[in-house]
Amino acid sequence: MKSGSTPLDDKECASSGIAKERFGFPKQDSRSLSHWLQDARGDPLLNHLTTSELPLSADIVVIGSGSTGTLIAKHCIETWPEKKVVVLEARDFCSGATGRNAGHCKPDQWRGFTEYEQAFGSQQALEILQNEQQTWSGLVKYIRENNVECDLWVGDTLDVPVTLEVAAKAKETFERFKAAGGKVDHIKFTHNPVKAAEVQNNIIGLIRHS
Ligand SMILES: Cc1cc2nc3c(=O)[nH]c(=O)nc-3n(C[C@H](O)[C@H](O)[C@H](O)COP(=O)(O)OP(=O)(O)OC[C@H]3O[C@@H](n4cnc5c(N)ncnc54)[C@H](O)[C@@H]3O)c2cc1C
Repeated sequence: MKSGSTPLDDKECASSGIAKERFGFPKQDSRSLSHWLQDARGDPLLNHLTTSELPLSADIVVIGSGSTGTLIAKHCIETWPEKKVVVLEARDFCSGATGRNAGHCKPDQWRGFTEYEQAFGSQQALEILQNEQQTWSGLVKYIRENNVECDLWVGDTLDVPVTLEVAAKAKETFERFKAAGGKVDHIKFTHNPVKAAEVQNNIIGLIRHS
């Protein structure tokens, strides 16, 4: 929910100079328009309001309308239909990271474990990673159940440490994650650089980030 002006449609957006002002290289003060949302400027959902005024009270208030907030709101509505749920959005609907990411959706399986463990302890670190997996599953389920028009493809992914230092750190993190009880049966892991190169050579499409 956002109190603000009606979004411009595509033509208005183009003629108002906003396109020139807000597309392209990143701008200050979060003014950059997301690539993914450029064609959706006229969508009324961007500034969707279900009540003309903000309710004075609610049972559950969700802050932010990204993938996290919307999935939480959906979960709350389905779990407690009698509760009054309010979603507050400071900008446009899904205009944060959710509406401006690289287009692939990959939950962290184990890579963040050491950092989370140092900050919050082993149990919480496992739960954070588990939550990431659940959020991903929830998103895929939503897309499938609601026939959301998008290029959803679900498949295996590959992490390739490109230096020995990173490989050593990855190995240590993976072992710590496993020892703490992290789920690893669905993960194939090799510490052998020759085998890793073989896997990499069998991949049809590979994007290298330098
Ligand atoms: C450039 C980029 C590339 C990425 N690429 C990938 C990728 O390829 N694969 C992948 O899996 N992940 C990727 N990510 C990460 C992924 O997009 C995010 O982890 C995910 O979208 C976060 O969702 P969220 O709902 O937690 O946050 P957001 O989508 O950022 O939502 C938070 C919302 O809260 C609102 N908000 C903030 N503060 C307030 C407030 N005080 N009051 C009201 N509203 C507020 C914001 O306006 C925003 O809409 C990428 C992220 C970025 C930025």
